Amino acid sequence: MGADVLPREEAGADTPPKVLRVLLLLELENFPALRRQLGVARADTIAGEVVVRCDVALPNSRAWTLSHRLVAVVFEAAESRAGEAAVSRLQEVFRQPFDFYGEHHLIRLRVGGATARNFDCDEVRLVEGAEKALVEAREQGRDVLHDVVEDDPGIDPLELIQELPRAIRDGEIFLQYQPKVHVRRQQVSSVEALVRWRHPVRGLVLPGDFIPAAEQSRAIGELTLWTLERVLEDQRSLAAAGYDIPIFVNVSGVLLADACFVDEACRVVAGHGAKLGFEITETAVIRDPASAIRHLQRFADIGVTIAIDDYGAGLSSLAYLKQLPARELKIDKLFVTQLTSSNRDPLIVRSTIDLAHALDMEVTAEGVETPAAMALLGVMGCDMVQGYLISRPVELDLLLVFLEESSHLQVLNTQRLSFLRSDRLWKTG
Ligand code: C2E
Ligand code: CA
Ligand code: CA
Repeated sequence: MGADVLPREEAGADTPPKVLRVLLLLELENFPALRRQLGVARADTIAGEVVVRCDVALPNSRAWTLSHRLVAVVFEAAESRAGEAAVSRLQEVFRQPFDFYGEHHLIRLRVGGATARNFDCDEVRLVEGAEKALVEAREQGRDVLHDVVEDDPGIDPLELIQELPRAIRDGEIFLQYQPKVHVRRQQVSSVEALVRWRHPVRGLVLPGDFIPAAEQSRAIGELTLWTLERVLEDQRSLAAAGYDIPIFVNVSGVLLADACFVDEACRVVAGHGAKLGFEITETAVIRDPASAIRHLQRFADIGVTIAIDDYGAGLSSLAYLKQLPARELKIDKLFVTQLTSSNRDPLIVRSTIDLAHALDMEVTAEGVETPAAMALLGVMGCDMVQGYLISRPVELDLLLVFLEESSHLQVLNTQRLSFLRSDRLWKTG
């Protein structure tokens, strides 16, 4: 193969020094179709077979499964184009069908990857770079590789945020929606709006990269008002298609101290009869409790449902949060993604659910990625679930596809879950 992917420890004295670290995320694009053909039990072994084939194709890499349809591959290389070479090698190798139980099947890979020339590069940045590349790869229908250093040449995020008004005007900002599903009623109870930026130079920018900077400037108010207007419009489209469901908007805590924003938001929302919710992070409320509580009450008075987001990630107690007019508590995905692999997290989740119920709040678990986590949350009495297992955040047209498919099928029957989602739901963010 063209790529030199010897790990550092195997390099001899005369081997060229490693200049690149590479992380590839391999998504099995046609997994739902394969699962339909092979059945759930056999399909669950596919990712393991992919790992074996990666080990052969890239002998000096390390591959492991992240989920039934996602495999990670890491290696270090002496050659700056090794990432691209490895992706072409993998695609070449995967053009050969696999032999599963005597049948031949092709596995289609979609690859998102990140490379770092700097060995001091923070691992989190490498992982985030690869995740972001995979989102873009799905959206663009081609493999995407990012160099985390080149892609982030130290541009001041505040500089990026100065572009925000123009970006809103030029239609670069858009929303994706992620459903929340009610466990007992087995139906979509609401959707959450998540903002994205299709930047002409930087590509897809996720909110983690610009919301914190927007919060430091006045841009967050403008962005949130734009989001509210967009959501009201999209809600009308959903209602016209027969789906009269609430939409939740993330409202940054800094805005809870901003009386002008609160007035303006109330003006935009009031009188529409819209079914809206605001998701507020707990840390935000603690900064200025008195005005936050007063302003949240104003929102609640005009019919907006208040949800506490990222619960567990901060330090506040539920007893304290009880003072807020909140009807829903969202358990941070940090606890949910580890639910079935940690000893401590199930206890935290279980006691949070019980306490929230005692305080008359409904509980949503976010970050539900596996049938095992879903099953456990059901047993624990969790009211609503949200996560990649059910649907990724998708644009409005694909949300309509999801709603259409789930309206006549049981959304939470995990054995059948694979049959519910159209393949299309996995091809974009
Ligand atoms: P959040 O409100 O906690 O949103 C959930 C995040 O988890 C989203 O990331 C979502 O794409 C991701 N996610 C959903 N399901 C899963 C899953 O099963 N597993 C994992 N690992 N992740 C999952 P995203 O879209 O990148 O948003 C990040 C954060 O940015 C949001 O966290 C929210 O705090 C903020 N944000 C997004 N849109 C807005 C907005 O319009 N206004 C404000 N103020 N903040 C926003
Ligand atoms: Ca949220
Ligand atoms: Ca959250």
